[in-house]
Amino acid sequence: MLYLGRVMEMGTAAELYSNPRHPYTRALLDAAPVPDPTVRRERITLKGDLPSPINPPSGCVFRTRCPYAIDACAEVVPPLETFESGHRAACIRSHELDLRKPLA
Ligand code: SF4
Repeated sequence: MLYLGRVMEMGTAAELYSNPRHPYTRALLDAAPVPDPTVRRERITLKGDLPSPINPPSGCVFRTRCPYAIDACAEVVPPLETFESGHRAACIRSHELDLRKPLA
């Protein structure tokens, strides 16, 4: 998954669907249409406009649209961290957030 040209998360499709580690991946999964119109689900909705790639936000480039952003997200560029599965994500909060299902 790329955002403003930066890798946010990478892994197998199965791993990204079942165990996303980055809020951007969670938002993309939530935006996918559900084939059954009777099914309702909670979802993360991205707010705001896509920042200019010429003048990206400091720290995590996704922070201006991330519902989980904290002050520290503006200060450091999150490293692309590798998890047990071999799946990788760049989010300083990936260990504390459970993104396996949408949060209210
Ligand atoms: S580092 Fe912060 S702003 Fe970036 S995805 Fe993680 S929580 Fe959101």
